This record gives sequence, structure tokens and C-alpha cells, in this order.
Amino acid sequence: MKVIWNDEIVERSEVKIDMEDRGYQFADGIYDVVRAYNGKFFTLNEHVDRLFSSAEKIELRLPFTKEKLKEMLSELIKINNIDTGNVYMQVTRGIGIPRNHPYPDPEEVSPVFTATTTIVARDQEKMDRGMSALIVPDLRWLRCDIKSISLLGNIMAKHEAHKKGADEAILHREGIVTECSSSNVWMIKNDTIYTHPDGNLVLPGITKLVLLRVAQNAGLSVKEEAFTLEDLKKSDEVFASSTTMEAMPITSIDGNPVGTGQRGPVVKKLQQLYVDAVENECGK
Ligand code: PLP
Repeated sequence: MKVIWNDEIVERSEVKIDMEDRGYQFADGIYDVVRAYNGKFFTLNEHVDRLFSSAEKIELRLPFTKEKLKEMLSELIKINNIDTGNVYMQVTRGIGIPRNHPYPDPEEVSPVFTATTTIVARDQEKMDRGMSALIVPDLRWLRCDIKSISLLGNIMAKHEAHKKGADEAILHREGIVTECSSSNVWMIKNDTIYTHPDGNLVLPGITKLVLLRVAQNAGLSVKEEAFTLEDLKKSDEVFASSTTMEAMPITSIDGNPVGTGQRGPVVKKLQQLYVDAVENECGK
């Protein structure tokens, strides 16, 4: 399997990352995940824009243009024969010696870029069946809008969920539901669809963006409005959204069924609208 290492496509075994890379020492870096279907990227522009936006927010100067990055990523999925799968890309600020907290002068440090691919088919069976979730306090920082590689808060929450036999963690700050550990979260009540608005408490999900657009186009009632744990408990349907999961029903929370305990009609409709958007861009 080939990977991108800075501006080259190389064998994975050729990549060497310095032990004093600031990504390794401080988690001083950002990442993104984009998905391809039928050998074509879906919403590549949006993912590349978000990577650049995350970089700008931490004053990290990316060593390539958006166009060059898109070219390299397209080349990578071609070489690796990715039909349907994910590309993980990350950029760290590079090597800083001696280890010191302030950002080094950008003239004196070269960011390190890597990208890898995995072949992953859509998990239709799970999308029909849904998954379980556990409610966990959101212990993360206050810049969740940056897609930072510093994910301890997220992985601790997901681990907590897994220890209790749940698939995903639904996070809340003092009773206000923010998002999940690796996805955005939505609730449906009386045919209105709710999700937390963008801002510093959630990641501006690309899947969320697509779902908002297709839902509005289909005439569904959608509100980017925060909701509480109490609202969540009384909701008709709940689902999570991410690039890798698309719209994934959450059919039980803390061991209690959500609504009927089965995938509901609104999330089923959204799944179809999302698939239509994918097929429109990437073909069937
Ligand atoms: N929220 C968090 C914390 C995430 O890690 C992710 C995806 O990795 C998302 C939301 C969903 O973002 P996207 O739809 O762009 O994949």
C-alpha cells in the first residue's frame, strides 16, 4: 500500500517521522478524513477547505496549495486502487528542537504531511440495524471546531462507551448535547430534525452540511438548534453522522430504546437522500 509523505507517494515502510516532531510531542497538528465511492472523492473540496481552515486556526502554514493537495490525493487513490474507502490525512507542525511550547518561526520548521488509504464498504446492515450509545460528559477543550489530532478527550469518551458495551458516546456539557466522540449527533421530535449549531463546541461536520442541504431541499423541517439530555430522552429518533458512517441510527441510549428501538422513518429517508447525493457526485 502506498502513502503520501510530504510531497511524494512512497511505500508505507519508507516513511520516517522524527521523535521530536511536534505532532508526536504536543499533538500539534490537524487531520481530516475524506471518503471515495466508485473511485471518486465525495465532497473533496469541502474536506480540503476544512483542512486549510483548521491549519489557519493554529497558524500552521501548509506547504502546498489546495489544488496540489487534491491532485496528490486523487493520485493516491488511483495507485492504491481505492474504489470505496477512506483517506486519512494529517499535518503536523514539524520538528521543533529543543522541545518548546511556542510555535517555532514558520521559516524554521517544515510541516509534515502524511496520508493513508483504507478500503471500507458501506455497512448497510449496520445502517439498517442502528447502533447503541452511552451518554458521557463532554470533557474536551473549547475549540472543538478545529480538527485537531489531539483526541484524548474523544478517545476517553469512546472507550467509556465501549467498556459499557455501547458503540458510540453522546457527549453533553451540563445537560446540553454537543456531538458524539467521532460524529455529529441529531435528534428528531415531531418530524423536526435538530442538531447542535456549528461554533466552538462541535466539529463542523461535512456529512452534517450535506444532510442539512438534502433535508432542506426535500422540504424536511431542520433546525440547527441545541437540545438537552431531557429532549433526547423524549425524542422519536436519534442518529449520528460522519464521513465514514453517513447517517447512522442510534436505537438505544444507556440501554433504553430510542422511540420504537428500531431505525425510524426520518433517518431512513435521510440515509436515502445522502446516498442519492453520493451517487449524483460519484456515480452508482
Ligand atoms: N464530530 C467529531 C468529533 C468527529 O470526529 C467527526 C468525524 O470524524 C464528526 C463530528 C463528523 O465530521 P464529518 O461529517 O466531516 O466526518
